[in-house]
Formats: sequence, structure tokens, C-alpha cells
Amino acid sequence: MARVRILHTNPALGPLDYRVPHGMTVAPGQVVRVPLGPRDMVGVVWEEAALPTETVGDNRLRNILEVYDLPPLGAPLRRLIEWTADYYLAPAQSVLRMALSSAAALEGGRTVTEYRLSGKMLDRMTPQRAQAVDRIGPRQGLIRELADMADVSEGVIRGLVKAGVIEGIEVALDTPVIAPDPGFAPPHLSDVQRAVADDLVGLVRAAEFAPVLLDGVTGSGKTEVYFEAVAEALRAGRQTLVLLPEIALTEPFLRRFIDRFGHAPIAWHSDLRQSQRRRAYRAIATGEALVTVGARSALYLPYRNLGLIIVDEAHETSFKQEDGVQYHARDAAVMRGHFEQIPVILATATPAIETRQQVAQGRYRELKLPGRYGAADLPKIDAINLVQTPPDRGRWLAPPLVQAMAATLGRGEQALLFLNRRGFAPLTLCRHCGHRFQCPNCTAWMVEHRLTNRLQCHHCGHVEPPPRACPECATEDALVACGPGVERISDEVGLLFPEARRAIVTSDTLWSPAKAAEFVGRMEAGDIDIVIGTQLVTKGYHFPNLTLVGVVDADLGLQGGDLRAAERSFQQIMQVAGRAGRGAKPGHVYLQTHEPDAPVMQALLSGDVDSFYAAETAARRMANAPPFGRFAGIIISSQSLRDAEDTARRIGASAPTVDGMEVYGPAPAPLAMLRGRHRQRLLVHARRALDVQDVLRDWLGALDWPKSVRVSVDIDPYSFV
Ligand code: ADP
Ligand code: ZN
Repeated sequence: MARVRILHTNPALGPLDYRVPHGMTVAPGQVVRVPLGPRDMVGVVWEEAALPTETVGDNRLRNILEVYDLPPLGAPLRRLIEWTADYYLAPAQSVLRMALSSAAALEGGRTVTEYRLSGKMLDRMTPQRAQAVDRIGPRQGLIRELADMADVSEGVIRGLVKAGVIEGIEVALDTPVIAPDPGFAPPHLSDVQRAVADDLVGLVRAAEFAPVLLDGVTGSGKTEVYFEAVAEALRAGRQTLVLLPEIALTEPFLRRFIDRFGHAPIAWHSDLRQSQRRRAYRAIATGEALVTVGARSALYLPYRNLGLIIVDEAHETSFKQEDGVQYHARDAAVMRGHFEQIPVILATATPAIETRQQVAQGRYRELKLPGRYGAADLPKIDAINLVQTPPDRGRWLAPPLVQAMAATLGRGEQALLFLNRRGFAPLTLCRHCGHRFQCPNCTAWMVEHRLTNRLQCHHCGHVEPPPRACPECATEDALVACGPGVERISDEVGLLFPEARRAIVTSDTLWSPAKAAEFVGRMEAGDIDIVIGTQLVTKGYHFPNLTLVGVVDADLGLQGGDLRAAERSFQQIMQVAGRAGRGAKPGHVYLQTHEPDAPVMQALLSGDVDSFYAAETAARRMANAPPFGRFAGIIISSQSLRDAEDTARRIGASAPTVDGMEVYGPAPAPLAMLRGRHRQRLLVHARRALDVQDVLRDWLGALDWPKSVRVSVDIDPYSFV
């Protein structure tokens, strides 16, 4: 009798065995419907050896109900799911769920019947029938739609169907995906670009695992160059996946792609309607979609015939998922490339130290584009010392920056002010009693948003209307905003340059691809003079008339100081600086800072990137920090403070003694409360070669805790709050 092991998408269920009924054949990777208790569930057929489970007697097995009409998840994807579960200590069921992210797509190739003229004519027709034939012409549609077109009753159309004059045809609900054309508009590459593009094309042709760092300064044409690798994959009929860090980036990317290849790629992100998601998923699974561009979740889709993965802006920490399965899409992309035996291109102007180290050790190849394309030069970067030339009281823009803005506007060019803070002010307090507005669910201040007239918690989304009176001392109109957010900077710009047209760009204003497209359109049309934005504007955009970038608070990223603070600060400012002077006109960047002598500022001002990275890397090596050592965070949370503390203490007390591993904590997390749950943290620090996952599995596997307590493990953490 045939029995197979099934992996479900519910982490509460272990792998289960089912019987294959007579007449059904199944293979690993196939998506099936199986009974579970009184209900049906979706699962995937898996190799037995990979999923040990308690054996159940044959006589107790239930039948598989249905095999879905979808190509099986390929072996490389199944290995990636297992690797992700193992490496990040996540249930394989939860990882599988990421691969089955469109329930609608399981429902097979759905079609509808439409009708059109068959070409057959009758010798004699009633005037109504003749009118119908005449008016329908080359069009097709449902019976109802044809009746409307012809202005006759549905009965007349049905009569024509019976007579054979109109015929039915099956039309796929999933409209076909048109393949991008590799020869549509190839660019004339510079010699340097051509050499790098040829290397990449060679890797696609070789069809072997090859991780590559494409390291090119902002505006060097990285996209243009990796498009040549995409073109090669297209010519070979193989699929490409391009991962982007941010949904807002997809729209400009899609437009460039269409310019180059004539047709849009499939886009995959959380903003898709169900029908779009279904179509994209099926086209990806059947291999029809040759190019997919998506957010990190696109990595786990069941590509049938993947030939190339590109991770654009590969330094971005938003590739790390912070809830559910806490994986890093950049690292998982390299693993997928390994299992698929294909090249993986990490493109960035500011590679992460982790990636640089892979290059240094010879595991990744590095290809460089050292200069900007064409006439564009890298922008000049200057510091504005806020101690020497401070802004006026209650203002945030120092006189030298204001002058530079005036000059830029005078030349009819565009300016960008960068401040990584949404809203009007990060903190609101009562002038009379000093009361501060805190989120009831989180250890965080409520942030004032004047555009929407409310106070908002940026952690849990809790909102309140701004009260007229202080809730503590009841004094009216005594609330003061402390510190700037982008909205406040925008107000200041409005006072300084009343004529200038401003745009605020944050996740509050650019929350969909359509909104992003609208912003790009207005920038390109010259309908915006000054952009005030958060990190959302630091990436990907190319506006040739944008020549001035002002970093309102260059010291901001250094506060709070986790191990990557200096590196991240450097990357962020380099990226935003990279928006300036991308066309023929030269760009100028001003950094407002209290510490112009800090190493990060010096690296940015002098352009001596290598020394900065060398110093950072040496410091990491000294501290045994990643990539030289490893961290794992253990976060214990519960609505009950006591349960959280008790569990954390028990986990801490049972920490094993392992050579080369240290455990810090437990201690209350910096974000001691989040969404109403109390949080405790432990931090595991280990040498590189130690199998921390194995240690953690044994350690945590031997313990249990109350149902109300959640224990999550964060391998290679990027967040320490
Ligand atoms: P990066 O991704 O490295 O920041 P881009 O690929 O966005 O750089 O290129 C910057 C700008 O230069 C884009 O407008 C791009 O179209 C243009 N560009 C780069 N290389 C070429 C080329 N060979 N021919 C024409 N335009 C190019
Ligand atoms: Zn909150």
C-alpha cells in the first residue's frame, strides 16, 4: 500500500502520513488536500527521510482527497524550506506557508466560456440575427455581453449559438503573461559596464551556483548592467527573480524594466489583489512568468525553472524579516541559489560588512563599477557644524543649508531634505506639568502627526486624537512638540520658501506602488521643488534635476548604538547622498552634524570609504561580532509580566555551559513592552564555528512554559530592542 508523508502549513501539526488511494499517483512536492479531523487541509508531499515522525499503523491512515493541478514544489525549494527551518529555528510548516502564499492559486486553471462568430453563415437570417452578426464583428464575450453589444436579446444570441453561427471558446481566467523581450532596447554600455555585464552573462550561461557582489557607486548603472544578465536568462528561457527591499521601489523599477524589455515583469508584493496574486503565483509555478520582481516574500515562491536571482540594494536591513519566520532574505537568496545551482547577484553601492567578508574569504566574487555613468560625477559632500552655525531658535535648518537651498531653487533645480523621522514631532509633552504622551501598549512615545491630526505609536499603530487639555494636570493648550519630524521640517521650509512646492515622502504618504508612481511622475514633471523624506527616499530613485541633498540630522543614526549603528549610518547617508547630481548637473550634499570629527562623518566627507570599512571590520573582529562571531537573541514575551520574567529566568538558569559561547541576560528588553506584551531578552554570543542552533534546540527543547508565553529565537539578529 502506498503511504506518503505530508507537511502541513499549521505549525501545531507535526508531519502526518496519508494513504494514496488507488488510481492516484503523487510525487514529492505535490500540493494536496487531505482530511484532518472533521476538516480538510492543504499540505505538500515530502520525502520521508527529511521529516521524521511517529509512525502510525497503516490501518489508521486516511486517504489523500485531491492532488491540486499545480506543478510540484521543486526539490531546491523543498531543501530551502528545510534549511530555513533548521537555520532560523522556525517550524517547517510556517516556512512552507510562505511558499503556498496564494490559496486561490490552488484552484487549478480556471476558465470561462466566451462566444464569438464562428465564420459559418446562414442563407437566411432574421433582421435581429443579421444585426447581431453585423455588430459583434471581431469581438468576443459572454452571451450577456454580446447581447449588449448587438442590442438584441440574449435569446437571439443563444439561437445563433444553436445554429452554429456563434461558437463558444474556453478563455483562461489567468490571462497569459507576455514574455519580456531581451532584444527590445539594449543599452550602449560603457567599456567598464560591458566587461562586468559580460561576466554576469557568462555566469548565467554557466548555470552553476555563483554568488556575486556587484559593487558599484550610486548612479554607476548597476541596474543597466544586471539587466544584461536578465536578458541572458530570458534568451535561455529561464526565470529571474529580482528582490527589492521596499514596495515603493517597484514602480520606478517596473518602468525602467519596460523601457528595456518592452513588457512588465510580474510584480509580487503585499499590495496585490487576490486575483492578481493568483495569476502571478500560477505563472511563477508553471514557469510562464519569466521575470518576477518582488519584496522578500517572493523568495519562497515555487519558481519552476529559476535561472538567476538578483538582490538589489542588498545592504538593506529590511531584507531581514522581524516577525513570524525571522529569516534574512539576502542570505536565504544565496542559499536558494546554492540549491538551484544558479548565480545570485547582490547589487549595492554600500555592501554590508558581512558581504565584504564573504568576498575577502573568496566565497563570493566581486565585480566593481567604480564611477558614475556618463557625465555625472559623485556629489560633493560638506559638513555643516551645528555648534558653529546653529539654526535659529525653534528651527532645524542651519543658515548654510538654507542658503544652498535658495541657490538651488534659484537655478530651477530640486532639493531633498532627509530626516528619518515620520510625523511632526517624536515627543509631545505638557508645558505645565511635564507629562509625556506614551503608548498604552508599548514602551514608546506617541508621535504627533499633524497631517492626520492624531498621536500615533509607531510600534503598534495605536492612535489617539491630540487632546486639548493635558490628561495629567488638565491645563488647556499646554502641549508642546519636542524635536522635529518630516512634517515639522516641511512647515519650516514653507516659512522659508513660501513659493516652493513641497512633498513629504514617508511610509505614511507613499504606502502603495500607485502612490510611489505618482510621486515619481510629479518629480520628473518638475511639479515638486523640495522633497522632505525619511529613509524611503534614500533608495533607487533617479531624478536628474535633483542636485541638493540636506541631511537634517546626520548624528541621528548613531544614537542607540547597536553593533551596526556606524555602518548603517554610513550606508544610509551614502545612499541619500547618491540621489544628488545623477544627471549632467553637479550634486552637493550637506550633513548637519554636532560631531563633524566622528569617524563616520570623516569617511563621508573625505570619501575614504575603505579606511572606514577597515576600521569597522577590525572593531568587529576584536569584539568577535558578526561576521567573525555570531549572535542569537531569545525574546520572551507575555501579557503577564510575571510569566515573562519567570520563563526568562528559567531559560537563563538552564543555559548550558558550552565552550566558545556566552549567554547574557535575561533582562527587560529596551522595548520592555510591545503591543501589550512584556518582553525579556537573552543574548547568545558564540564563536563562528559553533552550531548555535543545535545548542539552542537542545536547551529550549528541554523546557516548557505557560501557553501565554511566547519564546522566539532570532538568529543573526539585526534588531536588539
Ligand atoms: P545604479 O543602480 O548603479 O544607481 P542606475 O542603473 O540607476 O545606477 O543608472 C543610473 C542612471 O544612468 C540611470 O538613469 C540609467 O538609465 C543611466 N545609465 C547607466 N548606464 C547607462 C548606459 N550604458 N546607457 C544609458 N544610460 C545609462
Ligand atoms: Zn504602541
